Amino acid sequence: MDAGSSERRAPGGYRFEPAESASLSIARARVLERIAHAAERAGRDPGDVTLVAVTKTVPVERIRAAVAAGLDVLGENRVQEAATKVGEVRGARWHLIGPLQSNKVRRAVELFDVIESVDSLELARRLDRLAHEVLDGRPLPVLLQVNVDDDASKAGFDPAQVARELPALLALPSLRVQGLMTIGRLPEDPEDARPTFRALRELSQRLRAIDPGLGPALSMGMSDDYPVAVEEGATIVRVGRALFGERPRAA
Ligand SMILES: *Cc1c(COP(=O)(O)O)cnc(C)c1O
Repeated sequence: MDAGSSERRAPGGYRFEPAESASLSIARARVLERIAHAAERAGRDPGDVTLVAVTKTVPVERIRAAVAAGLDVLGENRVQEAATKVGEVRGARWHLIGPLQSNKVRRAVELFDVIESVDSLELARRLDRLAHEVLDGRPLPVLLQVNVDDDASKAGFDPAQVARELPALLALPSLRVQGLMTIGRLPEDPEDARPTFRALRELSQRLRAIDPGLGPALSMGMSDDYPVAVEEGATIVRVGRALFGERPRAA
C-alpha cells in the first residue's frame, strides 16, 4: 500500500481524506486478523474467507476511502440506496444482502455482482430472466438465503423447501448458485449464533451430496459473531459496524 503520500486517490481518481483511509486500513487489518485466527482454530485457510464490507448508511466518500484501504467487496441491503452509490465508486464488487422486491429485480441485476438474498423460487426465476436480458450471457452469481432458525421475522427458504426446490433452482440457466446465506439471531453472546451457522453448513453438505451443482459458498456472520461463523465454515462474512462504527440508526 502506498502510505506516505499526503493525498491518496481511490481507483478512478476520486479524492478523499487520507486519515479516513488510514483508519479504515487499521479496522480492516483487525477484522482480517480475527478471521485468520478463527480460520486457524478450525484448520481452514483464511484465504477461503471473503470479507464483505457492509456499507449501508455509509456515505460515498467514506466508501471510496474504504476501497482504497483494500475493502473492495461491498454489501448493501437496499437497491435504492445502492443505486446512489455504485456508479460513484470505482474498483469494487457489490453484493446485495437485503430483501429484493420484484419491481427492483432489473435494477438489482444491473447494479450488483452477486445477489446473496434469493429467498424464493419465484424471485430466482425472475432474476434468471432478467440476467439473461441484461448480462449478455454471463451467468449471475447468487446465494440462496435460508431461514435455518425458522424465525418468523426473517426472510429465506425454510430448509425443507430449499431441498425440494433445489433442482428447479439449479436448472435456471442464467444463474450460478454459488451457495447458501443466512442471517444469524443477533445474540447477546456470539456463541449463541453457533448452532445457526453449524446448521447452515450441515444443510449445505446434505444438499451438495444430493446435487453438487449447488456451490460451496456459505455467507454467514456479522460484526458480533463473524469469528464464530468462520470457525463453522463461513466463506463470506458480512461486516459493517466492526469496520465503519455504529450506524446512525437501525438500518
Ligand atoms: C447490516 C447487515 C450486515 C452487517 O451488520 P453489522 O452488524 O454492521 O456487521 C450483515 N448482513 C446483513 C444482511 C445486514 O443487513
